[in-house]
Amino acid sequence: REEEQRFVELHPRSAELAAEAAGSLLAGVPMPWMTRWPGAFPLFCASASGARLVDVDGHAYVDLCLGDTGAMTGHALPQVAEAVARQAASGITTMLPSADAVWVGQELARRFGLPRWQLAMSATDANRFVLRFARHLTGRPRVAVMDWCYHGTVDETLAVLDGDRVVPRPGALGPQVDAALTTAVVPFNDLDALDRRLAQGDIACLLMEPALTNIGIVLPEVGYLAGVREVTRRHDVLLVVDETHTLCAGPGGATAAWGLEPDLLVVGKPIGGGVPAAAYGLSQAVADRLDGPMLGHEIDVAGVGGTLTANALSLAAVRATLSTCLREEDFAVAVPLAERFAAGVAGVIEQHGLPWHVQRLGCRAEYWFCPPPRDGAAAAAAVDEDLEGFLHLWSLNRGGAADAVPQHGAVQPGAHRGRRRPPHRGLRRGRRGPARL
Ligand code: PLP
Repeated sequence: REEEQRFVELHPRSAELAAEAAGSLLAGVPMPWMTRWPGAFPLFCASASGARLVDVDGHAYVDLCLGDTGAMTGHALPQVAEAVARQAASGITTMLPSADAVWVGQELARRFGLPRWQLAMSATDANRFVLRFARHLTGRPRVAVMDWCYHGTVDETLAVLDGDRVVPRPGALGPQVDAALTTAVVPFNDLDALDRRLAQGDIACLLMEPALTNIGIVLPEVGYLAGVREVTRRHDVLLVVDETHTLCAGPGGATAAWGLEPDLLVVGKPIGGGVPAAAYGLSQAVADRLDGPMLGHEIDVAGVGGTLTANALSLAAVRATLSTCLREEDFAVAVPLAERFAAGVAGVIEQHGLPWHVQRLGCRAEYWFCPPPRDGAAAAAAVDEDLEGFLHLWSLNRGGAADAVPQHGAVQPGAHRGRRRPPHRGLRRGRRGPARL
């Protein structure tokens, strides 16, 4: 309560804006996840640069969330800002390809090893499109996903296991499409369960992250991913790897780092340096299975793409980001920093004898209030929303002075941290505090 009171006192301008916003925006925010802050109202952001956020009351925070990886390369990168400004002055939405598209396609092919690419506006979009391709190619109705996965607001993926039953993910708006008709759900790190389910012959594709990243970080056990590839091939099920978050594993994501061989691959968020963009890649074998006109210049399929998809601004942002960031040499700097960070947090946990852990994947690390779980259900069961909310509120109440903030990610020793809860958590137990949406 003390921290909640302190939060209100420290953030009068955010409180004013929140009250004003309540008159026109549903729940006072432009997007539901923005209600999932601790505190009585969301903080309003004034600016963000490098690893820093500044709120409208002039408090500065180290941003350990970075737009849930959407700004993994840091906020307001000068090279992205310049490319975006240049493109904005030259036109954005023409429904014609810009020259940057050529560079982007070649670069994605080089990084991930899949030869054919398409753009999307978000990873959610890309996942929806890829599921359509998979159904089209196999003629099968269902898709398989991992229990407690997150692949965006794609209907078929918002499903979890309840015992043996596939049910809608708790908290998702309903009534839903019947998840049992569209989706098979299998536990992560369980090859036998996957084999048994795919053997039923009704699955078009398995859509998965190489490591679960939306419920802490759950790493694959040794041999699991090779087993997944073998089982999916044996049952003629397409393997779709969603690298949206696991791009933190290296320049070509876990696919390149761990030698995976997906049939289709989705990557979103960080590739645009904060600007909306996503892409999906097809293996040559998958591209070869597409019918007639799709192999030539004309792709005539309903249900994929959109008016703003592959707009020149997104492509300019992706080019600026991938040509200057997220390269081998950038990971060589970022990964040791993440190691140091993870070791520091793990050291504090150990010092206090807490049954918690820190998991790192490449340049990203997360703490979780339990020993390392093996699958998503175990990780979800360990979520402690009260403790998590309190930690975040405590951190938010200790932002530094905005005028002392260095630009573009320079480290300010002794600065306080602010961290936002990843938005898709909290669906199992319900949110703490007053419901906003
Ligand atoms: N795929 C993964 C693995 C994600 O973690 C997310 C979002 O968190 C998405 C897809 C959806 O991304 P977006 O919300 O940008 O569409």
